[in-house]
Amino acid sequence: MEHPENSDEYKGLAVNSGVVSPGSINPYFQSRRKSRPTLSVQDYVDGIVKGNVTVLSQAVTLVESLKPEHQAIAQEVIEKCLPYTGNSVRIGISGVPGAGKSTSIDAFGLHVLKDGGKLAVLAIDPSSERTKGSILGDKTRMERLAVHPKAFIRPSPAAGSLGGVARKTRETIVLCEAAGFDKIFVETVGVGQSETAVHSMVDFFLLIQLAGTGDELQGIKRGIMEMADGIIINKADGDNITKAEQAASSFRNALHLFPPSESGWTPQVLTYSGFYEIGIKEVWDMVWSYMDFVKKNGYFQYRRNEQAKYWMYETINESLKNGFYHDPEISALLKNYEQEVLAGQQTSFTAARRLLELYRKN
Ligand code: GDP
Repeated sequence: MEHPENSDEYKGLAVNSGVVSPGSINPYFQSRRKSRPTLSVQDYVDGIVKGNVTVLSQAVTLVESLKPEHQAIAQEVIEKCLPYTGNSVRIGISGVPGAGKSTSIDAFGLHVLKDGGKLAVLAIDPSSERTKGSILGDKTRMERLAVHPKAFIRPSPAAGSLGGVARKTRETIVLCEAAGFDKIFVETVGVGQSETAVHSMVDFFLLIQLAGTGDELQGIKRGIMEMADGIIINKADGDNITKAEQAASSFRNALHLFPPSESGWTPQVLTYSGFYEIGIKEVWDMVWSYMDFVKKNGYFQYRRNEQAKYWMYETINESLKNGFYHDPEISALLKNYEQEVLAGQQTSFTAARRLLELYRKN
């Protein structure tokens, strides 16, 4: 009997014969996915230089991949793209969650694209490594830019240390520039360290702030304010305009107490509304006048050179650290050494020295 439940013993219960379920809704889907040809390094480079966004996305995926074979291709692609890079303005945009980054970037993006060119919006989100879900990962946060033909939005790479995540974004900038993106926004959540990472790869660092209860300066770290080339107070609309103006003047007063910036530029403080699009032009007039200023006084190139050096050392440090911690012998010993240090059987320094000596011998 096909279904034993249909026997007389189980009166009132009937099981119908099943139907054959279709293998796939689209029979071509799987075969197409499997047969996607793997591109050669030159294919990637050609596609990127032609501005092909699909190829660009695939190359960024390789940059973000942890697989050594992907990394090897990515590095070759980046190197071949280098001659096509550098012709862009790179702007870091930071602010705490809720400050209005997405709303503002949507408005800023449309504003800067009015003059032509192409815009890439990248992100560095340190939370993505902890939660596996990125605060800055959702493309739909920037509704109009997400469908703009001249905009490319890429969420934060999601694995590794902040240094590692930042390096991937740095490399993605290279690819985007080679693909003809002449305006690059790098967004980050205002939580501290990630600002330093963003600052190390942009020409202008824009800090989005909100008017609070008068003590807005207390919550913000001095170091972050010192990095800012412009501080913009968002949500200066409706009842909030006066408070935003007050916040702006306390920021201006605070900035006066800082030593003059290396660039010779005096950071400006403006109020605007990302949502109602008030004061957007003024924000960008400020950014462009900074660019003119630092291009004339040589600081623009100086800062880029310093950043290039920084990334060289950063990459060396990162790879030394990875090499050490991923060494099988070292990682097998680490926990034991840690226990011995805790038990007072050896000092932190001897433990470290022994492990490093062992690593050098390997
Ligand atoms: P993010 O977390 O920094 O990306 O902030 P969002 O752009 O998601 O904005 C957070 C909230 O603030 C949303 O509810 C926005 O609608 C609101 N918002 C953003 N910009 C403005 C603005 O200029 N004025 C007002 N009144 N609200 C805004």
